[in-house]
Amino acid sequence: MEEKLKLTIAHLYPKLLNIYGDFGNVLTLKRRCGYRNIDCEIAQINTGDDIDISKYDIYFIGGGQDKQQIEVSKELQKHKESLRQAANDGRVFLAICGGYQLLGKYYQPHDGEKLLGIGILDAYTVAGNTRFIGNVTAETDFLEPKTLVGFENHAGLTYLEEGTAPLAKVVVGNGNNSKDGGEGGRKNNVFGTYLHGSVLPKNPHFADYLIKKALSVKYNRDIELEKLDDTIEMNAHNDLINKKY
Ligand code: GLN
Repeated sequence: MEEKLKLTIAHLYPKLLNIYGDFGNVLTLKRRCGYRNIDCEIAQINTGDDIDISKYDIYFIGGGQDKQQIEVSKELQKHKESLRQAANDGRVFLAICGGYQLLGKYYQPHDGEKLLGIGILDAYTVAGNTRFIGNVTAETDFLEPKTLVGFENHAGLTYLEEGTAPLAKVVVGNGNNSKDGGEGGRKNNVFGTYLHGSVLPKNPHFADYLIKKALSVKYNRDIELEKLDDTIEMNAHNDLINKKY
């Protein structure tokens, strides 16, 4: 009897960072596990929760306005060591926009003090004078198909430093800072992106990539996923490729 596979997801601060329905990413991971009879348990971690968050298989944090990021930045400092250990252990992180910014070293908003991140991505963000809003097409070097599509809405300009590579190359849109051609960031199994949408439903190949990564770390072996009929998902994906508005 084959062992029943299981993944646990820590959804960080869903009451504060869930702009543009980023929660849809967690639902997509759970649903795509369920289609393969993989158990998937979601724990919502909110401000003030005092629990050990070092042992989850996947960590998800969504995007939000500067105001919500102030509170989350403070809360994240309480869990910084546990999250850094999880990242060092190869556990999977997916962070969207404001959440992505806080996985870096800091986010400096227009007004007020610098918001500390947890530094599991070698990156920093400063608020720019332009708000980047629109569809994004970007090209990865690790997915098939290579493309990622989504929607960006951020004033933050993110700059990657040595040790962290862009998640993808911008084809349409602005990405990290509209200058260096990078979108998002990746370090080991930590993935940050500016793509809202939510990003995973229209990029099922990225969702499966994350699930496979999390399974291989947890069970210490490569686990093939049953292929799903993603006709509808990929129709949505392909419809957005190279679309700006
Ligand atoms: N407040 C941050 C910015 O404007 C992040 C926004 C977001 O998460 N959509 O850059």
